[in-house]
Amino acid sequence: MIIKYKCQNGKLELKFTPEKDDPKRQLIFNTTFKKNTRVDMVSTRCEIRFPNDWTADAVHPDVFALAMLAAIYPFIGKTLRLPRGVSRAFHNQVMQVTNKKVLPVNEKLAPRKAPSNAVPAFTYSGGIDSTAAAILLPKNTHFFYFDRIVPTGTKTLLNQEAAYYACNSMAKTGRNVHKIKTDMQYLRKPVGFNSYLSDAVPALLLADYYGFDTIGHGQTLEIGYQIGHLGFKDCKETEVGHPWHKLLKSIDLPYTLPTIGLSEVSTTRIVNKSPFREFAQACSRGKIKKPCMNCFKCFRKSLLDKVIMNQPLTDHYLNKLFSIKDARNVLNAPPPIYFASILAYITAHYNGRHKKMQLLKKVTRGDTLEVDWMNKWYAKSQEFIAPKYRNRVKKEILKYAEPMNTKDVRTMTKSFSKAYFNQK
Ligand SMILES: [Zn+2]
Repeated sequence: MIIKYKCQNGKLELKFTPEKDDPKRQLIFNTTFKKNTRVDMVSTRCEIRFPNDWTADAVHPDVFALAMLAAIYPFIGKTLRLPRGVSRAFHNQVMQVTNKKVLPVNEKLAPRKAPSNAVPAFTYSGGIDSTAAAILLPKNTHFFYFDRIVPTGTKTLLNQEAAYYACNSMAKTGRNVHKIKTDMQYLRKPVGFNSYLSDAVPALLLADYYGFDTIGHGQTLEIGYQIGHLGFKDCKETEVGHPWHKLLKSIDLPYTLPTIGLSEVSTTRIVNKSPFREFAQACSRGKIKKPCMNCFKCFRKSLLDKVIMNQPLTDHYLNKLFSIKDARNVLNAPPPIYFASILAYITAHYNGRHKKMQLLKKVTRGDTLEVDWMNKWYAKSQEFIAPKYRNRVKKEILKYAEPMNTKDVRTMTKSFSKAYFNQK
């Protein structure tokens, strides 16, 4: 893949020219519906709008290269060719962990070192998990919202109103919040992120502009360790960790993932105990303070919220939730159900007589499983908190969740193992 760019008044235009060995299509396993789905690279350009005085030449070439890897990872064949050479150390690290070459190499270039007065960067979505992470991070963290430019004529359910409201509210608490406009998600069809580091591309490209020494996002235990969809796997080996964990270290911008050792149960509780509850919203289709109540996320997150707040689940409310078409599709997909762990937690706390809820309880094992571990913190995950910030973030986490003991960890890994997810 050959990368070229133009940059004017802070607007970066990226041009991608595929080479013979670059795949144009990838088959990606859809963990909700348990089947392979096609993802195509449908555009060879995208743009990102940075502050007016930002220039691409001021970014360390290794950081620029990692941003490009994150943006289009599945569509890079053997080689990524860039306008400016990367350091030998970075080239070798990429080769070692991905078997891809990043060219050219500038033998004179030293690897990136973060400045001594650097601060953390975090990709902020305005959602529950992301807001919980924000609560756990130092106050001088810079937050980056991936502000989607929707190409004209494109139909979309996306509504960013609630996210903008969350960003503005977060900014009012004194945090640095940046909304960076980009159409990067439209490089592919279906629209979306090409990797778990894609939404960090704006923050990466600003790493030398603001001076960052760590970067992170608000993914939770369910995704990071796959317990919600593919079965427990060490985060260093999952798509969240690999290859980004090592590559970020090599540009002196190690991951800080404050919520990666916490389940959605804990992130919901953290937000609910904070004033941020007023603006954090999981749904990306609804309006301000009005989630769409028509998607699976609304189904799961609103049930979880009620359980955590000890509010009753009335038959009327459950009827409304079970009538959501999007939720029915997910619940009726081949088992186990996507985010079965959270549904087990929810149903374990339900003792009513709603038929569909009782059935869901049985299917997700909410009637037999131990679920208390979801209130706790998986301490091994602290390897995903940059050493400079580890003690501070840990102290914050421990205000809300005690560490899992050996029995908790065994329950988590056994009841949501790969074998459980691979059952036929
Ligand atoms: Zn929704």
